[in-house]
Amino acid sequence: MIDLRSDTVTKPTAAMLEAMAKADVGDDVYGEDPTVNRLQEKCAELFGKEGALFVVSGSMGNLVSLLSHCGRGDEIIVGKCNHIFQWEQGGAASLGGIHTQTIDNSKDGSLPLEEIEGAIRFDDQHCPVSRLVCIENTQDGRVLPVEYMNSAGALCRKNNLLMHVDGARIFNAAIALKVPVKTLVASADSLQMCFSKGLSAPVGSIVTGSKEFIKKAHRARKLVGGGMRQAGVLAAACIVALDTMVERLHEDHANAQLLADGLKNISDIDVEPVHSNMVFFKLKTGDVSKLSKTLKENGLLANTIDRHRMRMVTHYGIEKSDIETAIGIVNKSMKQAAKV
Ligand SMILES: *Cc1c(COP(=O)(O)O)cnc(C)c1O
Repeated sequence: MIDLRSDTVTKPTAAMLEAMAKADVGDDVYGEDPTVNRLQEKCAELFGKEGALFVVSGSMGNLVSLLSHCGRGDEIIVGKCNHIFQWEQGGAASLGGIHTQTIDNSKDGSLPLEEIEGAIRFDDQHCPVSRLVCIENTQDGRVLPVEYMNSAGALCRKNNLLMHVDGARIFNAAIALKVPVKTLVASADSLQMCFSKGLSAPVGSIVTGSKEFIKKAHRARKLVGGGMRQAGVLAAACIVALDTMVERLHEDHANAQLLADGLKNISDIDVEPVHSNMVFFKLKTGDVSKLSKTLKENGLLANTIDRHRMRMVTHYGIEKSDIETAIGIVNKSMKQAAKV
């Protein structure tokens, strides 16, 4: 089975398992796990921030960031397509009393600066207080460049707002742009990044920001039940992920491009441009449910986004030869689906 549903299906590498087995650990709720501390210091340095905090998941990383920046009745500005709005159960509202104002993402995944500016509230007793702008990078595989990140940051500062970056796949963006990740997130007041996606670690995300922010995030993590004990076992895999799995991401991007090029030659398939490790396509006619089933029968797993759209994600463990096989399977499945 070739599994292209997501880069979250990646399993820990042999080096990760070895590091996990040998990890030096302590009680992290007391701040005494040396491996967690090492990971946090490494991340603070890597992202160019004063501090970092290890959390269970990307959703928890975003939630503790929002809880740290905003109080009840404060408002965040976020894209309609963004994970924080779409896929986190509205945790900011249900747990933090934080109000959300959404704006449409541009075609390139960014939030148009004039739309952000237009969404900022006046100082008026009828309105919530605008506090934070959330930018996602990569956004559905789309890479937001350094200039955009800096302009968004400057707009936030000018308007006395904070900027949070949901960088679940920020390393995919940095590798695609060939810039240090530190440069890409220089304008962010806080950032969340996932080790458990393209970097292949089994569990974990990191939150980074100022010392003061991390202190608040630490409290928020405990509030949402995210205090961990000998978490060095997990952090050890994340350190290996940073050391060995970042530079290779360009292979996933090349494979995604190869896949898109192959799919383009199949009639009735409309492939969207590829920017990192995600390939989205539509069927020009009919819906994808039948195709998805046939693909699975033929040994290929992909995600269905809606009636007409599917997603395939390349990742560690998927080789060039798998891409060639996958293209063959799509070709064959399209012909089979056309017959029945
Ligand atoms: C996956 C993802 C998250 C959430 O991460 P989990 O570890 O699944 O909770 C947040 N934001 C983006 C952009 C993601 O892709």
